[in-house]
Amino acid sequence: MKTLKCILQEADNNCPPATQDTKLNTANKKAAAKDHEYGTAPNCGNCKHFNTSIKKCLGNAEGIGYCEALQFKCSAAKWCNIWVSKRK
Ligand code: SF4
Repeated sequence: MKTLKCILQEADNNCPPATQDTKLNTANKKAAAKDHEYGTAPNCGNCKHFNTSIKKCLGNAEGIGYCEALQFKCSAAKWCNIWVSKRK
């Protein structure tokens, strides 16, 4: 169980909770796979919801972004059925 101090530290760094909590990230990723076919085809990298602007929250792994819609760290090479083009 997380302490209040831990929760406050996470809130202070302005990172989405799933980028700091592996269990939450995994649960959200599994929900994305179950409910939105995450992982079936390319590619998150050109999806409007793929956020790479929070690098401090994402670590050093290549091709990883934060899915703002489903709230987990996703691979640029994957996809889900709520993909939306970055182009307007
Ligand atoms: S909405 Fe789907 S395709 Fe877009 S970034 Fe999230 S998981 Fe990837």
